[in-house]
Amino acid sequence: MRSMSETQTLDRPDIDTDESTDDDTPKVFHYVKKNRIAESAVMGTHVVALCGEVFPVTRSPKPGSPVCEKCKKIYERMKKDD
Ligand SMILES: [Zn+2]
Repeated sequence: MRSMSETQTLDRPDIDTDESTDDDTPKVFHYVKKNRIAESAVMGTHVVALCGEVFPVTRSPKPGSPVCEKCKKIYERMKKDD
């Protein structure tokens, strides 16, 4: 008998490369502060990224998506301030 794994991996081949499909999936990863995520859980389902982008937490970028350049820059600046 095999034990069930706790972790689930979505091992889908990425065959859907059609860029023209205008779905709700963002093309890039955004940095979101943890307290923003907690806040959004209370306020609703939207989170505000470091760059100001607002999007629902239910959306998640596809694996391998690039990181938002704006978020990256702001995040780097925050790390220096620390
Ligand atoms: Zn961003």
